[in-house]
Amino acid sequence: MKTKQDAVPVKADPRLGGGYAVAKKILGTFFLLLLSGNVHAALNVFACEPEWAALTQQLAGDKASIYTATGPLQDPHQVQARPSLIAKARSAQLLVCTGAELEIGWMPVVVRESTNNNIQPGSIGYFEAAKYITMLEVPSRLDRADGDVHAAGNPHIQTDARNYLPIAAALSKRLIQLDPANTAYYQQRYGAFDQQWRAAIVKWEKQAAPLRGIPIVVHHKGFPYLNDWLGLVEVAELEPKPGMEPSASYLEKVLNELQQHPARMVLRAAYQSERPSEWIADRAHIPAVMLPFTVGGTPQATDLFSLFDDTIQRLLAGLKQGTP
Ligand SMILES: [Zn+2]
Repeated sequence: MKTKQDAVPVKADPRLGGGYAVAKKILGTFFLLLLSGNVHAALNVFACEPEWAALTQQLAGDKASIYTATGPLQDPHQVQARPSLIAKARSAQLLVCTGAELEIGWMPVVVRESTNNNIQPGSIGYFEAAKYITMLEVPSRLDRADGDVHAAGNPHIQTDARNYLPIAAALSKRLIQLDPANTAYYQQRYGAFDQQWRAAIVKWEKQAAPLRGIPIVVHHKGFPYLNDWLGLVEVAELEPKPGMEPSASYLEKVLNELQQHPARMVLRAAYQSERPSEWIADRAHIPAVMLPFTVGGTPQATDLFSLFDDTIQRLLAGLKQGTP
């Protein structure tokens, strides 16, 4: 629309000469830009992980300008509080993260160092997705010796599609609180997302029916929510403790355990090394299945919908491949 306006030729006023007309055109364009800048003053969002950037995008459309702090091939537990992240947090009006201590090693530092009052814990601009769902694997006791165990429970909440329903409801309310002028827009987008997502869950559950009761091994304890949703049964983990890479002797031990409790496939997230799961897969004669884990983890997982389409397709392909 704007480019069309700009393209309208400005007729030279014969009394004033061409210079005036050009100046008028430039000024006009300038004011048009200024105006459109005001109309589209987007909400600056700092998302910790790609799935929350994608959800914010679904709910806020063009009313938000979203920065994603971590990539899909990055280990979300191991992120540095780099100055570039602090700089981005400084201009954010809303921070959307998993919470539940997933980002404990970097996000609190980034938020504090940003000295941005909009996104300090407890403010409207501070949003932790994990607050809105039922957490799994909440430890009854906390011991550093148990490895990367989180007091709030397992933080990998994004692998159960059902979790997005309450999180989207809460996040949409937050967008409205921060930008009440666009309430109707946010309500419309939330309504559309909620409806489409519920329909997609029905579809995914139908597709994933053959996965129910299937025993699996996982590299890291990254999938308890996926298992809870689709009925996969975790019989072993490759990591001796969460966050600790397995040694060769530990993998031997897991391999022996698998003879007692056979599994049909070994799962890992896209960001993890394929070596431990390939090692087990070769020796236990089961397929190693890599899952996107978040948006962008595989070329197919381009948004939240295709994230779950691809996850389920990969699990079904693994099941087929490993059929005895
Ligand atoms: Zn973890």
